[in-house]
This record gives sequence, C-alpha cells and structure tokens, in this order.
Amino acid sequence: MARIAVAGFRHETNTFAPHKATLPEFETGYSWPSLVRGADLPAAVKGFNLGISGFIDRAEAQGHSIAPLVFASAAPSAQVTEDAYETIVGMLFEELAWVGTIDAIFLNLHGAMVAEHLDDGEGELLQRLRQKVGPALPIVVTLDYHANMSRDACEHATAITGYRAYPHDDMAETGERMAVWLDKHLASGAKRPAVAFRQTPFLIPLFAGCTMRAPADEIVAAVAEIEAETGVLLTFAGGFPAADIPDCGPSVYGYAADQSAAEAAVNRLAEMVEAREKDWGGDVLGPEAAVAEAKGLAESAKRPIVLADIQDNPGAGGTGDTMGLIKAMLDAGIENAAAGLVFDPHVATIAARAGEGAEISVALGGKHDVPGDSPLTGNFKVICAPSGRMIASGPLYKGGRMDLHPMARLRIGGIDIVVVGKRVQAADQEFFRHVGIEPGAMRFLGIKSSAHFRGHFQPIADAVLDVAAPGAMAAFPDALPFTRLRAGVRVMPTGVNSGA
Ligand SMILES: [Zn+2]
Repeated sequence: MARIAVAGFRHETNTFAPHKATLPEFETGYSWPSLVRGADLPAAVKGFNLGISGFIDRAEAQGHSIAPLVFASAAPSAQVTEDAYETIVGMLFEELAWVGTIDAIFLNLHGAMVAEHLDDGEGELLQRLRQKVGPALPIVVTLDYHANMSRDACEHATAITGYRAYPHDDMAETGERMAVWLDKHLASGAKRPAVAFRQTPFLIPLFAGCTMRAPADEIVAAVAEIEAETGVLLTFAGGFPAADIPDCGPSVYGYAADQSAAEAAVNRLAEMVEAREKDWGGDVLGPEAAVAEAKGLAESAKRPIVLADIQDNPGAGGTGDTMGLIKAMLDAGIENAAAGLVFDPHVATIAARAGEGAEISVALGGKHDVPGDSPLTGNFKVICAPSGRMIASGPLYKGGRMDLHPMARLRIGGIDIVVVGKRVQAADQEFFRHVGIEPGAMRFLGIKSSAHFRGHFQPIADAVLDVAAPGAMAAFPDALPFTRLRAGVRVMPTGVNSGA
C-alpha cells in the first residue's frame, strides 16, 4: 500500500476586491478549518465538505497511509500577500522534507489563486513541487469549479479533477474521486498520463455558472457521460471572472493514457460550452425593482421570496457588509423579512454588550468604501446575541463546524438582520436558525450570495430573484476594468446583455 502526502492551500482571488489575504486570514480560516500542519491536520479537516477530507477518508479505506503536510484556506478576497504565500508554501516544503519517503502527493487547491508577486498561485506551487520530487512521482490535485486554469498547472500535475456542482455540494466527493483514480493509477504501474487543455474564449458571469440552471446543468452532466464513455479524467472549470490575469476564464482539461483520446474528449466538451455562448447569462434586477417584484410575488406565494444580493458575495471577494438591498427592503416597508449575513464585528459586539431587548443606535455595515454604498444608520432592537458556534447542515457547508462570533440578530422595521463577526457566505439555513429565525417561515429573505445559497434556500422558496445592489463582486464581468486578459478573450459571452 502507498504512503501519500496530503496538503491543502485554497484561495479564490478577486483582484478587484478591496482587501488582501494576509497570513492571519489563513490562520482564521473563516468557513473552513484554520491553518494547521503536521499530525493535527487529519482531525482538523475530518467531516468537512472538502476535497482533502474526502480524499483522506477514501485513501485510508483503500489501505493507504497518509502523511499530512499543511492545510490553509482563507475567505475569497484580493491577492494573497507574498508573505502569506511564501510562508504557507514554505511550511508545505518543510513538512514534505520531514515526512520522508512517499509514493504520491495529493493537493487540495482552488485554481483561482493570485498572489501579490505571481499570477498563477497553483501553477507556481506545482512547478516548485515537480522540481523537488522529479517527473515521475504522482502529484494529484482537486480544484474548485471556479478555477482559472493555466497550461502550466495542468502540465506540472500528474492528474487534476474539479468539482462538478455549483453550489459545490461535491467537494468531498471530488476528493474521493481523485483517491479512486490515484489508487488505480498506482496499482496499474501506468506511466504519467497525457494532458489536454482548452480555454473558452469568453468569461462566464459568476451567477450564470450555477449548475442548477441551464446551460451549466447540461455541461456538467456531459462531463460525467464523456468521462464514463472514454475513460478520460475530464473537467469543466467555469472560471472565476473577477481576476485580471491572462488565464482568467473557463476551460476544459482532461487526462488520459493516450494524447489523442484526451484531446478528443476535451474538444468535444469545449465545443458544447462554446455552442451555448449566448445562454451563459440571466436576468438581474436593481434593488428597488427587485423588492417591488418580490412584493408582487409574495401576494400569492406560500413560501419565502429570496432576494439574492449577488454582488456582495463574501464567497467571491465581497465585503459582506453592503447595505443597498437591505435599505431597499426597509424603504419598501416589507414585513416578516430576514437578511444576512452582514459582516460587522463592531456592531455585533455592541449588540452583545447591550444585551437582549436593548435598543442600540448604530451605523450598520457599509464600512469598506464600496462605491455606491454607505452604512444603514438607525435604531435597532437586539433580539439576541448568541455564541456564534454551530454545525452547518446545508449542501455546501454540511457538517462544518462554524464559529461566526460575535453574532447578533437586530430588528429594524419589519426586517431581522443577522450580523456576524466572520465574513462568511449566507449559504446555510443554520446561520439564521442559530439566532431563532426559521428561514422557511419568512415571507422575504435577503441573502448575500451569488449562487451557493441556492442549494439550501431554493428548495424552500417560491421564487429567487438575482439582485445587483452595490458590492465588490460585479454580476457581469463587463463592469470590471480589465487590463491584463489574454488577447481575444471576450469579457462577456456574445449575446448576453448585462444592461451596462
Ligand atoms: Zn467555487
């Protein structure tokens, strides 16, 4: 049986976002385990919906032994600082030297990491590792659906596979799939597979890549079909459009024993993605129009109407504290509404000190100079201010141990706002239940998320409206001031109208 070194280093970089990912951001971890190295790693990641968690479980079940290196993950933001990147990569190499002889390396990366000093965080790490261990040692990788893939990353790895679901309910499953592939590869004694890689000539708006809607649902179904039919380890990456780097954008990549088989499968899938170019969009409303439509829909609805604040998605570099949608809800006088998560540790702390039932006069959110945004100033009633520690239950964060401390539920008008001390995407109903709000019992829900919320909230809603209020994650990439995309790539799919 094999001895496999495992590591994780994840960051999705929105190069247009206001704050960078420093080392303390990785030490905190936000929705995911905080930075951990060596023997403590397996327990820290166990039970999470993460590639590394699924990989370790499956590899151990296959009888392999695990040599843990380092795991580090930070909330999406602007560039990873040079200090953070080099410190974490340094730890990985220190641990690698420490564990001695190994038969393979597994890496849980993201695929859209940009550091201050380099555009391709994953490609650089894979290149350094390849240089260290030589051409033969298997280095296998799981990546996010939102990877901005480079040819370098594809070629330095032995094999890579990515998530097939957005919302990413399949992160751990993707790690398991990689473990199964590696087990077969090691047992067969086969040589390093050939790789094929093709970039899509247009960017896909983040929300439009959701695999609960067309055409992404058809594309990910085709990935599994073509893989089953041809044996090519095949991935469609939707790309992460808020990155001003040459390799920004969707891609298709595949690994097979035979170069022509890999090329054929990749081209077949890439042509399906490109043939649907005009369909990679969708309707997005301004906050006032969205709230007006939601009020109309609510008259005949039996379940909540969800207003998705898709431009302030902390899962894509949003600050998590813009107030445009919540102000529009308040101005429209809607009742029986909940909104969140608003990242404002200062206000959450004030609320906790004031205590349940107190009235506080504060400026909530709007503290990151996002254009067009400002705090919501007023009197809020503190409904409660609990610990912030809970277990997530939705498809994205399932089983994840969350600590959103300090946390408070504040009421203003007919809206209850969930305020948190960690910048976390509102993709799980437990974030609301923890402060006593049953999401399914509300008439309106304002949710700060681009698409991950759909996994847990779409099934309980009568309608979901995508709303473009001020935020650091532009709904449509044609709003972004790109200067460094590769020649020929279109910032929007032809035929998709952002209204810009
Ligand atoms: Zn993603």
